[in-house]
Amino acid sequence: MSRAGSIRKLEGKVALITGAASGIGKETAIKFINNGAKVILADIQKDNGSQTARDLGPNAAFIPCDVTNESEISAAVDFAVSTHGHLDIMYNNAGIPCQTPPSIVDLDLSTFDRIMAVNLRGTVAGIKHAARVMIPRRRGVILCTASVTGIVGGLSQHTYSVSKSAVIGAVRSASSEMCRHGIRINCVSPMAIPTPFAIDELKKYYPGVDPVRLVEMVDGLSTLDGAVCEPADVANAAVFLASDEAKFITGHNLVVDGGFTSIRSLNLPAPDQLS
Ligand code: NAD
Repeated sequence: MSRAGSIRKLEGKVALITGAASGIGKETAIKFINNGAKVILADIQKDNGSQTARDLGPNAAFIPCDVTNESEISAAVDFAVSTHGHLDIMYNNAGIPCQTPPSIVDLDLSTFDRIMAVNLRGTVAGIKHAARVMIPRRRGVILCTASVTGIVGGLSQHTYSVSKSAVIGAVRSASSEMCRHGIRINCVSPMAIPTPFAIDELKKYYPGVDPVRLVEMVDGLSTLDGAVCEPADVANAAVFLASDEAKFITGHNLVVDGGFTSIRSLNLPAPDQLS
């Protein structure tokens, strides 16, 4: 329990979060700490990352880490263990968007490789090195950020969509082995959120458009009346999946989309419109 009396779901846990200098990762770091965890923030943004860790106080630390470099992920995991003795939660969250041509015929495969190196290979490397330190303890939780674009085709460019489908697949595949060691692994699939990730991409599509308008455009995608998707919604899902409340949930993709991927409107003509 905290001093305020609320239940702290991650008391004493040690977590490593990639892509934690901004957006979903940063919000998750805040919520993990508020729930009693010690958090290592890993990111390529050194200034932002170290400032964020300072702002979050003594239960936060920053390590520079490019997830495309396996040795840097390995070092981040080892840093968590050497600092706190073990690693309870690994959240593979770092990811980048991409602009690729609308047609797969024109796909630039070097861009494809670059996006996959961060979104998929970086995630798989995180799973690998978390497993390396968790399996001997026979405990731990691994989380990954996928996306609704990995579930439904056509919501983003092919390259990004494929990378996020593959993250969901990587989680399912890894869960088949990790469950034998008592380790849970799940992913969270958010819909569009106006973080720098989404807004910077939209600026390229709509140059000169007021960023406030771009945020409204992203929020306008929500199908749930009265609510928009925020980093806190994903962070709350991550706290739940990381906590013992989710002790029997593994291999799962928790969709945080206000029903977006479940809802279709039948576009049939009204009877009086038929001639
Ligand atoms: P963000 O841009 O605010 O944060 C992403 C962070 O990842 C940044 O701090 C960035 O520096 C870091 N990063 C990028 N490349 C890295 C690398 N090679 N190594 C280490 N860190 C790296 O964006 P966000 O919206 O918080 O995105 C977080 C995750 O959520 C991503 O995986 C993204 O694909 C996913 N996602 C975002 C949205 C959205 O609309 N914002 C929707 C669904 C899924």
